[in-house]
Amino acid sequence: MVPGTAEGDGVRIHAGRLHSRLQDLSRIGSTPEGGVTRLALSIEDRQARKQVVAWALARGFECRRDLAGNLFVVRAGHDREALPVMTGSHLDTQRNGGNLDGVYGVVAGLEVLESLEDEGASTSSDLVLAIWNNEEGVRFAPVTMGSSLWAGKLRLADLATQIGSDGVSLETAIAEDEEEVSGLGAAAFASPFRAYLELHIEQGPVLEAANLPIGIVTGIQGVRQFLFKVSGEAAHAGTTPMVTRKDAFLGALELHSRLRALAIVDDPEVRFTVGRMSMNPGAPNTIPSEVAFTVDFRCPDATKLRERGAAMLNAADRLWAGCSMTVSNLIHSEPVSFADFIMESVRGAARAEGLPFLDLPSGATHDALNAASIGPTGMIFVPSRGGVSHNPKEWTDPEQLAWGCQVLANALRDLDYERGSDGNRSPTA
Ligand SMILES: [Zn+2]
Repeated sequence: MVPGTAEGDGVRIHAGRLHSRLQDLSRIGSTPEGGVTRLALSIEDRQARKQVVAWALARGFECRRDLAGNLFVVRAGHDREALPVMTGSHLDTQRNGGNLDGVYGVVAGLEVLESLEDEGASTSSDLVLAIWNNEEGVRFAPVTMGSSLWAGKLRLADLATQIGSDGVSLETAIAEDEEEVSGLGAAAFASPFRAYLELHIEQGPVLEAANLPIGIVTGIQGVRQFLFKVSGEAAHAGTTPMVTRKDAFLGALELHSRLRALAIVDDPEVRFTVGRMSMNPGAPNTIPSEVAFTVDFRCPDATKLRERGAAMLNAADRLWAGCSMTVSNLIHSEPVSFADFIMESVRGAARAEGLPFLDLPSGATHDALNAASIGPTGMIFVPSRGGVSHNPKEWTDPEQLAWGCQVLANALRDLDYERGSDGNRSPTA
């Protein structure tokens, strides 16, 4: 069968509306390179949020906003006892980021709600589209801020006074946004749900290489981030003999190769990255007294993440090229496994369309990580051309975007049923 030629008996999404809305949003914050810059709660991000809310209100959907600036579009179900079925993603981007990261999941989620509305299809559960505030963490830290606050992993009071990269406090930015989308109902943090299913571009090369249109995401790998500081002694580059130096850069180089060995970077499951490095005093004719660098270490295996991470922390016990070293732990996020019944639901949704699929873990962090701390969660991936993301070249074929959206629609409808203990589904109403 040619992929996508089977037609399930469920609600059909409208590919044309999906694409034209993606195009409309790509114009908000567009860059000369063809990408987009919509930092969280910036003028551009607020404009995009306002646009999606306007589309939702025009269809009669209820829109709510919580104190962290997360937005929720609700299409009411007929059973007031049933827990909601959720989907969601984000509208904010990296600087000069791509046109699909985040926004695709939001527009596709709205498309599912609208298609149900077009066909007058009823659901027992409320279907809720969450638009998470500040997933990217560029203007304000940390990443997945809105969904972390929603899930109760962070407290707004601890973050509100932080100053963003443009000198504006988070508090002020949230207040400006509230003004922009005024008149919405209030939403609570961390409401229970029956299922949360997020659709996203893969941002990696696996699906394209396998020539498969749909990824069943099995979980999100764990992350540890460390900050290493190597301290030596500043001295004149011309007069200090090589043997008496305490060169912090040399110490950092030795430490770096040791850390790679401790992470076992030959292990195909491991990702190890030094993304930031600074050197003091930073003059061409002075031996550096201090070098600081970050390490981002990821792995889907919790034991490897814990044991190898601990070994890296213990590297502070000795001198490196005669220099002392300190290390601080920036992030420790355990790997998450997604719910089996949701993965099974997505497989069924893809089969109904004649779309072949592949199980794979997510290399990147997503808002689904926080949803998974509250209730049953899953994700769907569509291919990313060349595996490129966070870049204007980010691309997925329009046909593949439409297939992903249709699979989301089928799966959300399937999840709109209570599952008995035997795994069989039965309608709640
Ligand atoms: Zn994203």
